[in-house]
Amino acid sequence: MQDILDITIKEEVSRCLLCYDAPCSKACPAANRPDKFIRALYFQNKRGAAKLMLDANLLSGICAQSCAEHAYCQGACIRKKIDKPVNIPLIQQYLSQLVEQMEYLPEKNETVGKNVIIFGGNTAGLAAAVYLQQQGIAVTIYHFKTPQIEQNINLASLRRADSKYMQQAYNLVNKFGIEFKQITMNEIDNIANDDIDACIIASKEYSKWLQKNDKNMASFVTGELLTGPDNDAFAVKKGRQTAQAVCKYLLGREEVV
Ligand code: SF4
Repeated sequence: MQDILDITIKEEVSRCLLCYDAPCSKACPAANRPDKFIRALYFQNKRGAAKLMLDANLLSGICAQSCAEHAYCQGACIRKKIDKPVNIPLIQQYLSQLVEQMEYLPEKNETVGKNVIIFGGNTAGLAAAVYLQQQGIAVTIYHFKTPQIEQNINLASLRRADSKYMQQAYNLVNKFGIEFKQITMNEIDNIANDDIDACIIASKEYSKWLQKNDKNMASFVTGELLTGPDNDAFAVKKGRQTAQAVCKYLLGREEVV
C-alpha cells in the first residue's frame, strides 16, 4: 500500500513544472509553500520537504485535509494548462504522515517575558498560538471539556476535533511548547488574569469571558469569531493576523524575527 502511495506521489511530483514565482504558493491564504516542498521531493529529499512544509505552516496537516476539495494552490497550479493540476493536497497529506515519524519542529525566538491566553483550540486559535510562540511569547490555550463542547459546538466540530489530523495538529502544537488547559463554563470565571498580558478570543463560545474581563486586559478577536466557520486556510490567516496585532501591542512590532 505504501509502495503504491510512494509511486503516486512520485508521479504527481514529476508533473510539477517547478515554476519560478509559483502561482500555487501565491494562492495559498495560509502561506503554505507547495513549490518549495514539491521541489525538495523532486530531488528525493523527503525529510527536507516535510521540514519546509512545517516551517511555512505548522498546521499544514489541517490544511492538507480541509483544502482537499477546494485547494487554492491546486486551483492556481499552472500545470492545468497542459492536462490537470498537480494534486498538491495529496502530496501534503503524504508529508504529514512523514512528520509523525520525525522529531523536527520549526525554530522559535527566546522568550520575551509575555503571556497570552487564547480561548478556543480550533484552527484560528492554534495558528495564533503558533505565531506568538515563535515570537517568544508564552501561550496557554483554554478549551472546554467534552461535555461542555457537546452543549456548545455541533457534532461535526466534535468529530473533527477527534479526527486524526486534528489530533496530530494538537500534538505538534503541544510539542512546540503551547499549553492546553481544559475548563468548564463555570471555571472560566476563575481564570486569574494577573500575569496575563493579552487574550485572544478564537471561538464565540468564550465571548462571555471577554465581556467580563475586557476592561482589565487587552483583548483581541480572531476573524473566525466574526465570520463564523470558515475554511482552515483562511482561519490560519486570520489567526496569524490576530497574533500580529497582539505582537504589535505587546512588543511594539509585528514580528521579532
Ligand atoms: S503551480 Fe503547479 S506546476 Fe507550478 S510549482 Fe506549483 S505545483 Fe508545480
